[in-house]
Amino acid sequence: MSDSSHRRAPLTLDFIIVGGGIAGLATAHALCSSGHRVHVYEKERGTSDYSAGVRIPPNGMLVLMKWGVADKIKEKSVKCTSTEFVEMDSGERIGILEWREEVMKELGAPFYLIAHSELHTILRELAISSGAHLHFNTPVASERPSVTLADGQVVYADIIIGADGARSIVRPVVVEDDTPEAPSQMTIYTGTIPIATMETDPDMRSIVHDIGHPHWLGNGCLAMSTYLRSGKEYTASFWTPEPIPKGAPQGWDTPVSSASLKYAKIEPRMAQLLAHMPTLTRVARVEKERAESFIDDTERIVLVGEAAYPKGPCGMPVISAVIEDAAVLGVLLSRLRDHSQIPSLLYGYQDLRQPRLNTILDLEGANHFLLMLPPGQDRDLRNEAWKRWKAAAEARGDAEIEEGELEKQFADVCEVWGYDAIDAAEDWWVHWGMLRERASGLGGGGVLDGTVCVRVEGDL
Ligand SMILES: Cc1cc2nc3c(=O)[nH]c(=O)nc-3n(C[C@H](O)[C@H](O)[C@H](O)COP(=O)(O)OP(=O)(O)OC[C@H]3O[C@@H](n4cnc5c(N)ncnc54)[C@H](O)[C@@H]3O)c2cc1C
Repeated sequence: MSDSSHRRAPLTLDFIIVGGGIAGLATAHALCSSGHRVHVYEKERGTSDYSAGVRIPPNGMLVLMKWGVADKIKEKSVKCTSTEFVEMDSGERIGILEWREEVMKELGAPFYLIAHSELHTILRELAISSGAHLHFNTPVASERPSVTLADGQVVYADIIIGADGARSIVRPVVVEDDTPEAPSQMTIYTGTIPIATMETDPDMRSIVHDIGHPHWLGNGCLAMSTYLRSGKEYTASFWTPEPIPKGAPQGWDTPVSSASLKYAKIEPRMAQLLAHMPTLTRVARVEKERAESFIDDTERIVLVGEAAYPKGPCGMPVISAVIEDAAVLGVLLSRLRDHSQIPSLLYGYQDLRQPRLNTILDLEGANHFLLMLPPGQDRDLRNEAWKRWKAAAEARGDAEIEEGELEKQFADVCEVWGYDAIDAAEDWWVHWGMLRERASGLGGGGVLDGTVCVRVEGDL
């Protein structure tokens, strides 16, 4: 199989990417390193000083390793080796999921936890080093069939990528009759705290030295915590079904008092953690359907990341899914040598990504349901099973994992994590792309007969 990381498309296209978050920057790198010219327009900074941690499971790390940034990620992050499940109200430790070295080796990459801002910086530097032109503080105002600069400037491209997140302005151009956003069922508060502060309190010290990465499970709510910044900081995201009051402050740049977060009853370790986080940021988890199509009718506008499948933030698979999108698009478009191939390659992206994302997001939905079960028979059964597996894991120590333990419950997660997006895109090319190219007779027709323009607010 040829090395896609060094393959540059014989035909260079101009791309405009709307949104310079994780999806936008990853896509900019993937397209630039495939030989294309890319401009990214980001309305703000794409990250925030207050933003917290993100998870990079092995399927995301596999791509980042192939992009040559594994060492940078490793330097800034912490390896996740286990996740412990704790009852939010009683503090009872009911289960542990070990991400053991041998399993991670089998999957091909480790599972890292990193600050959003540090991942953003690494991807920004990567995109710039590949030749992308990044324009921050430059919002795009979009309308069909073109998007136009607010100050009157018009920027042209062959293809526009909507990487502008869950409330994308590009998406309505791609998805006609898009279903409106439903009222959010979940608010996520996040906060960080220095590990040195945690060491001063016995309850918090026990989190650091004893538990590590607990998930506190409640009735319809959840708190997930991890180390950050090479283990110097600790972060937690607190999920609550309580909606953000209309007009109240929210967003990654807007800290609010942690008194705004109300849980019915929480155990002392979690209470201490919250008491030492005077402010938190809060965002609503977006309730919007996955896009039916990722490509518009003109086959020139494409969605990636949360613009296509609004589900984040703070979920387990979101960052890796977004990185996979970018990798697949980059590999497929590195094959471009004639304009007539564009629709086929873009639909190749959609054909690969839609079933994959359905699997990832359905699994995440099922996991969240399991983690936030209300009191009752199902929750009792869950806890009993986890306790049995935990006891078995403790008895086993470092010995080989046996069939039927907690890992089995999460077997689907491992299947999702073992996916190599770059290989999948290369396979698609071998099985479908080349065939389609031969069938259509390369060089004939289908040339893009115009350009798409983008309107951007602010100076370029
Ligand atoms: C500032 C910020 C901080 C975050 N911090 C965390 C965190 O700590 N933990 C976590 O789990 N998730 C965080 N997220 C969310 C996380 O990045 C996403 O859930 C996930 O990575 C999907 O990324 P995305 O690039 O598709 O969407 P997003 O991350 O939402 O990025 C979309 C980008 O598009 C930009 N944009 C939107 N509209 C326009 C427009 N009209 N013109 C130009 N640009 C536009 C936005 O400013 C944003 O930077 C954060 C997102 C942002 C924007």
